[in-house]
Amino acid sequence: MDTAAAVEQVVAHLERHRDLPIELTRELVRIPTVNPKFEVAEGRNRETEAQRLVAARLADVGLEVERYEVTPDRPNVYAYRAGSEERSLVINGHIDVVPAGDPDTWSVDPFGAEVRDGRLYGRGGYDMKAGIAAAIAAATAIHECGLELAGRFEVHSVVDEEAGGFGTKDLVARGRTASAVIVGEPTEGHVMPCQPGLEWVRVTIRGRSAHAGWRYNDIYPQRDTPDRTRPGINAAELASRFITAVGQLERDWGTRKPAHPLLPPGITTINPGVVQVGSGIGPDGLPVTMTNPATTPDVAVIDFDLKYLPTETSAEVRAEFERFVASWAAQDSWLREHPPTVRWELGDLHFPAFDTPLDFPLVDTIRRQRAALGRTTEVTGFVAVCDGAFYRPTGATPLIHGARGAEAHGPDEWVDTESIVDTAKVYAAAAIEYCGLS
Ligand SMILES: [Zn+2]
Repeated sequence: MDTAAAVEQVVAHLERHRDLPIELTRELVRIPTVNPKFEVAEGRNRETEAQRLVAARLADVGLEVERYEVTPDRPNVYAYRAGSEERSLVINGHIDVVPAGDPDTWSVDPFGAEVRDGRLYGRGGYDMKAGIAAAIAAATAIHECGLELAGRFEVHSVVDEEAGGFGTKDLVARGRTASAVIVGEPTEGHVMPCQPGLEWVRVTIRGRSAHAGWRYNDIYPQRDTPDRTRPGINAAELASRFITAVGQLERDWGTRKPAHPLLPPGITTINPGVVQVGSGIGPDGLPVTMTNPATTPDVAVIDFDLKYLPTETSAEVRAEFERFVASWAAQDSWLREHPPTVRWELGDLHFPAFDTPLDFPLVDTIRRQRAALGRTTEVTGFVAVCDGAFYRPTGATPLIHGARGAEAHGPDEWVDTESIVDTAKVYAAAAIEYCGLS
């Protein structure tokens, strides 16, 4: 059988069993898998149970299944059908979800998986249990059609994506990767071959503590006052100046750096997300006292979320930001003597960028398969970051493709049921074309 006939066969099979990926998405939504780093609540952190279901379904259709605990009671599922390395393909999905938030803001039970007018409602259905269900349905169709693939086919169902990608990082560290990866995050059916890089970086600026009662002495020259020799230097004000300067750098990056053809101009943002100012510095690097405005604070800790272009490397961007900090500090006599410190990989968070070429065969496979289903497909960039980042440094070629819906991380999150079926068909076609038949 040639691949075209095999694709036709699995697509027809999935059309006959179109309820399979939809019902599986519903089953997964009904098992709340809220990431415990965001919320620990009775009956809400059931990743192990959901992963047991994923593992059982994949084992049922002939995949070898292994489980690895990333942290206690938080297992990754690694499932594969043996085949060649050169044509190996991973479909990756995360099983963890963000909390539902205030249930009063939902018009349905966040974990009820209600289907209404072609929309499946529930936390994590769209982001991204639909993607995992579609991968399982694709594996099922290939198995039930009796097809054998030449390349290794893998499904990675991971925990702890929402808090920084630690599940996928763990699988990749165990050598679980392939030559190509489809991350099943929702993309509205589009193909997304690139994403920016993301760094969390902490800048710590030191001032000098003093009593606020003598602040006039910090600001105005006093005649004949010996106190004048040690004025307070307010770290909050230094932080404010620094944040303003970083805003100018951000604007400069947005206009000067060449825009990536698939990403919005100005994607290279530097968001000051957390600012902590106080007096004294503890062993954790944070201010000790944050409750007393009568003291001129001497420590400011500013955490930034910094994005860079798919065409840049993390090393280049880190060096550029550090040069900026040094040149900012060089303008001030105190800061020249007490230069700010820069710490990368805050919270161990670091997502390398990727920029998969548009002629990578899977881009065409997905577009062609969707066209055969009567769907149009845009090729565009992913503006957030996903687990594809961690496969790229292993030599794998990642891209992102998944279902259609809305309200990820918000109330009334929904995924279009028709698009779950489409996604399963596309994943099955991608596996057959990329891995080949044996
Ligand atoms: Zn997601």
